[in-house]
Amino acid sequence: MSLLYSLCSSSKGNCHFVGTPQSGLLIDGGIGIRNYAAQLALAGISLSAPQAVLVTHEHSDHVSGLQKIALRHHLPVYGTPGTLDALVQKGILDYSLDLRVIQPGETVSLGSQSFIAIPTPHDSAQSCCYRVEQGDQTVMVCTDLGQMTPEIHHALSGCDTVLLESNYDEELMAHSPYPYFLRRRIVGSRGHLSNTDCANELVELAKTGVKRFVLGHLSQENNRPELAYQNALSALLGAGAVPGEDFSLWVAPRINNGRIVSTEEAACTECG
Ligand SMILES: [Zn+2]
Ligand SMILES: [Zn+2]
Repeated sequence: MSLLYSLCSSSKGNCHFVGTPQSGLLIDGGIGIRNYAAQLALAGISLSAPQAVLVTHEHSDHVSGLQKIALRHHLPVYGTPGTLDALVQKGILDYSLDLRVIQPGETVSLGSQSFIAIPTPHDSAQSCCYRVEQGDQTVMVCTDLGQMTPEIHHALSGCDTVLLESNYDEELMAHSPYPYFLRRRIVGSRGHLSNTDCANELVELAKTGVKRFVLGHLSQENNRPELAYQNALSALLGAGAVPGEDFSLWVAPRINNGRIVSTEEAACTECG
């Protein structure tokens, strides 16, 4: 069984674990090192379980704890050439770490898992998202997009579990206290997906057989968990999908405190 555990997920910090309680991979390191250890312990995941960190891009909400976590726990850090260069140039990572390049489209095998990097159109050096395979389970964590691309959609299709960003509610964003330039950046094609963008994609993915959906990377200022959840639920129901049978839906909390999205869980829940 391969599980997805979102240690934290929001526009302030992102760190996910994919694997079993004994062995797996981290995706991003946007969490403080103490909280990192606490969140793994709360979920019953061994501190020695993570085998590597796969970093999506250099924005601080994905890398704020990365150097300390990787150094302390001797974890190799995988990223695209552009992302690793940006992290070193900005002084976020240094060469004391085991930095490993993954090219977009490349598949890497590590222990019982393999992962592939899929390019994302986000406003960063060379961002990507990752699809992880373990046994017969495929999990994909997909945030910081700006727009859905045919390549990302193809990679998401048929996965067992998908975490997709549902960053902002259009109505809240229209009245956001954020400055104009920042709002333009977020809603632009290299920013983030809205609740509606996300819901539309979930409907398409449900047709390809994806059954477990997690909404992630919610903005604290421009979204609410219940809005993201209802938006996605309405879209799936409107397309004729039956909850519990055709799909399960969760919202990844800002800080998780122990809740695991496992492949065996079947309920629809609003959390966070
Ligand atoms: Zn970003
Ligand atoms: Zn982000």
